[in-house]
Amino acid sequence: MIVAMQEKATEEQIDYVIEAMVEEGVEVHRTTGETQTILAAVGPTAALDLTKFENLPGVLKVHRISSPYKLAGKGFRPEGTVVEFANGVKIGGEKVAVMAGPCSIENEEQIFEIAKSVKAAGAGFLRGGAFKPRSSPYAFQGLGIPGLKLMFEAARANGLLVISEVMEISQIEPMLPYVDCFQVGARNMQNFNLLRELGPAKKPVLLKRGMAATIEELLLSSEYIMSGGNYDVILCERGIRTYETATRNTMDISAIPVVKKLSHLPIVGDPSHGTGHRDMVAPMARAAVAAGADGIIVEVHPNADKAASDAAQTLYPEQFEKLVAELRVIAKAVGRSI
Ligand code: PEP
Ligand code: MN
Repeated sequence: MIVAMQEKATEEQIDYVIEAMVEEGVEVHRTTGETQTILAAVGPTAALDLTKFENLPGVLKVHRISSPYKLAGKGFRPEGTVVEFANGVKIGGEKVAVMAGPCSIENEEQIFEIAKSVKAAGAGFLRGGAFKPRSSPYAFQGLGIPGLKLMFEAARANGLLVISEVMEISQIEPMLPYVDCFQVGARNMQNFNLLRELGPAKKPVLLKRGMAATIEELLLSSEYIMSGGNYDVILCERGIRTYETATRNTMDISAIPVVKKLSHLPIVGDPSHGTGHRDMVAPMARAAVAAGADGIIVEVHPNADKAASDAAQTLYPEQFEKLVAELRVIAKAVGRSI
């Protein structure tokens, strides 16, 4: 942390700030220039609360220079993390992962039909929610564990891995036998109790960016899982809420290269929630892969218009098939494959 003092800061004010920094357990290195004094904190700065110093008398600006996340930071594993799944599938390596399936598991016929078609198109993971975080308590809430069992059977019958959302701690245990990857949804990115419990769960976790979360907050949330001993975390950009109303969310494609710069964790793009519109899913999926995403997660349904949730952003199987074919070309252009 660097504290830049105002040009007119007095010696008394400077001493006061130094004292406050020392009290936080850091060593202070002072540089007095011709017009301004700079105070650099060295030591355990990760947990420092910058706002504590911003309002002290004589302070101009406070900057953080070392990252507040240690395990998720690039420096922890400069070579990058590759998350490996039971059947040898990897996320974070040369291959771009494709996860696809309905927003919600609805019934046996639906999930078996979609599993077959996404597999044929080239997906490696079957997605589908058994526990649904719906904005309205009256909307379809998901089939729960019985639905998840159906998805597990459909996935295994087609050689696919299973990814499904966990909303609360009590669901971890019953979900464990039926998922290859837990998904933490945007609404739970800062459910710190849940994140902590996913540390010892020892199954990969796809952590979605909260709709009002900064990239730093996303990385700090991943730190909760990693500090519990689970380093198999995959981040997901699924759009953030902005003043724009033309799309459901604003899909922040730039988050992909930013995460690549700051962290060793893989990141996938979710153009379905990122846009909210079926016709915009393919362009943003292509953009995500072009920007360096390690995978995409897309909503696909045999009868997309009639999907129980997120119908407007759900692709028909034919559209998904076409998209994967396009993504193969883009992946190749950026030195990857599908
Ligand atoms: C989902 O994947 O269906 C979902 C609810 O996503 P998000 O948490 O990104 O809204
Ligand atoms: Mn959805």
